[in-house]
Amino acid sequence: MKALVLHGPLDLRWEERPLPEPQMGEALVRITAVGICGSDLHYYRHGRIGRFVVEKPLILGHECAGEVVEVAGPAAGNIKPGRRVALEPGIPCWSCPECRTGQYNLCRSVRFFATPPIDGVFCEYVAHPVNLLYPLPDQVGEEEGALLEPLSVAVQACRKAAVPPGGSALVSGAGPIGLVTMLVLIASGASRVFVTEPYSFRRRLAAKLGGYPLDPFSTEGDILDVINDLTKGRGVDAAIECAGNAAALAACLRATKPGGRVVVVGLGESIPQVPMQEVIDKELGVFGVFRYANTYEQALELVCSGRVDVKPLVTHRFPFADAIAAMQQAATGGEERMKTLILMPKY
Ligand SMILES: [Zn+2]
Ligand SMILES: [Zn+2]
Repeated sequence: MKALVLHGPLDLRWEERPLPEPQMGEALVRITAVGICGSDLHYYRHGRIGRFVVEKPLILGHECAGEVVEVAGPAAGNIKPGRRVALEPGIPCWSCPECRTGQYNLCRSVRFFATPPIDGVFCEYVAHPVNLLYPLPDQVGEEEGALLEPLSVAVQACRKAAVPPGGSALVSGAGPIGLVTMLVLIASGASRVFVTEPYSFRRRLAAKLGGYPLDPFSTEGDILDVINDLTKGRGVDAAIECAGNAAALAACLRATKPGGRVVVVGLGESIPQVPMQEVIDKELGVFGVFRYANTYEQALELVCSGRVDVKPLVTHRFPFADAIAAMQQAATGGEERMKTLILMPKY
């Protein structure tokens, strides 16, 4: 099968790889759609993300949907050949204390697509455990199936944020993760979701999808003043940091009400200057989010029910044959891009 392999920074090559052989309990899945994630671009540009370093050739891609080709072993429920599925990309060990208490995203032995040394899905086929495949109903397309992955991050973040019905929230950063987080907050009953984002294209999209956009670099009024004005001086119930920078995290801590929660999703490259006095003075709860656990079914329900529409996030589509061009465009494409999808040829 064809696979797109990263050999080092900016060095992607087409290679022929053997067709994966599904083991007992696994299915062979033909990939149909893959989203390009910020992490894929980071590996592509720098060959590493923090402690994860690309030391040998790696297939990127982890946001994906596909079609079941064959199941190894006895047929597993509704996972059978021809079934369209979303693939949850992390395979945990299922036996460590974290796995046994349901926090399998924290498993130290997890094998996650496109995290060195585990290959991802910029390829034609993958063998994957059937219990990590989620059948897509007819009304949910491949593209939405692939976007259940970032949507899962949003579900995980929103669980931690625990915004009450009718409550308010701040999301910093209106990239794909910021926007899906905003959509889940709105779908979960938040009455006002502020979104800070420097790029105007992204702010416009946030506004179109129901958020309240703010420009963090605007000279017209500090965003904290605006948030305070619109929350009767209290601040938001929770803030979710999706921008990955120190100033955004500081704004989240300042904008959150006493006793509120701050959830950190964005990947900061280094330890930022955090105004810890805000955490102490207001007894804030600060939560990290590392991927997700037990979120795919809920993410799928949000899409099936129409409560969350992820389609407006897709700004670019490329056929698999042009995947290198897709990565180059995504890495340099500027602010008019949100989510790029790579689509496999139809059979
Ligand atoms: Zn991702
Ligand atoms: Zn485990």
